[in-house]
Amino acid sequence: METKDLYKVLGVSKGASQDEIRRSYRKLAREHHPDANRDDKDAEERFKEIQHAYEILSNPEKRRQYDEGPRTFFGGGNAGRGSPGDARAGDFSDLSDLFGGFGGLGDIFGRSTQTRETSPKGQDVTVSVNLSFKDALNGVTTRVNVPVEEACGDCRGTGAAPGTAPRTCPECGGRGVRSRDQGFFAFSEPCARCGGEGAIIEKPCPKCSGSGRLRKARQVTVRIPAGAKDGMKIRVPGRGSAGKKGGATGDLFVVTRVAEHPVFKRQGDNFLVEVPVSFVEAALGAEIEVPRPGGGTVRLRLPAGTQDGKQFRVRGVGAPKTRARSGERGDLIVRARLVVPRKLKRREREILEALAEERDEDVRGELFKKVGS
Ligand SMILES: [Zn+2]
Ligand SMILES: [Zn+2]
Repeated sequence: METKDLYKVLGVSKGASQDEIRRSYRKLAREHHPDANRDDKDAEERFKEIQHAYEILSNPEKRRQYDEGPRTFFGGGNAGRGSPGDARAGDFSDLSDLFGGFGGLGDIFGRSTQTRETSPKGQDVTVSVNLSFKDALNGVTTRVNVPVEEACGDCRGTGAAPGTAPRTCPECGGRGVRSRDQGFFAFSEPCARCGGEGAIIEKPCPKCSGSGRLRKARQVTVRIPAGAKDGMKIRVPGRGSAGKKGGATGDLFVVTRVAEHPVFKRQGDNFLVEVPVSFVEAALGAEIEVPRPGGGTVRLRLPAGTQDGKQFRVRGVGAPKTRARSGERGDLIVRARLVVPRKLKRREREILEALAEERDEDVRGELFKKVGS
């Protein structure tokens, strides 16, 4: 899917600011608007590409994922909806239907008449936090640095220099769109004068260059629950980027990165531990001590004749279940790993030779029976 460089599609550099991306997008969207290129099939395809690229690059989180590479990127939320075939080529008599397939006019033109009433919600922000095995097991309160966009304090988010105010666009009367009659139907297109904003800033605020927004790193305290798994997503409502023009604040998502433990492997709410068992213990049976996640040991009874790889379950000493409030825990799965002595003392050798004679065992008999003649 993501074969084309989205930055090239929008004609911007990789380091382009959100403002540059928006400006370039608006310009291209107007140029390649299906209505302006009625008989040009390529323009329609290009328009879709532009729309798709903008969906990704205008969203800081999606853009970051895209920058990180295709492996972690599964397309934008609207990527499927805007796929080729949604819009019927050459049949644009129903423009609202066509635009519906592109994710809505509001996206394309900044603000359409339909979305004007509600102010846009701020971006959700995702950060990851590195946790030690112990902190993830016991839970911890930690601080994370969150890159957010906040309303510029100097201009109170308006983008106009202090002491001035944005002026209602005279071209569109503040609607951000202009109506045009075309044959049997009328439709809207973005106001070229104000770029769809509905307002014109004559003197941009020097601090935010007229965007009304500033990037900031904010420290947020996050409670990591006991038993947190690697890759867990914790939602902190209202701690993302500020909304535009009084819109709701986005959410913060904290993704846990839990360090691997050399001994305990996490499996859901359980831990798996591989425990060496001597061949004598395995044959005779034994009560052994096994390490417990978080410290200490637990006793485990091995039955006589324990086989290599045999697993035993010690209930209730795994990870705390993050969903259960009762303090319930998963289990510890103990896998026996048979250890054969590398070297034998003389006396040990004699005993084993005596054992071999005593058993006179044909361990591979079954195997050859299965092979057949
Ligand atoms: Zn400002
Ligand atoms: Zn205007």
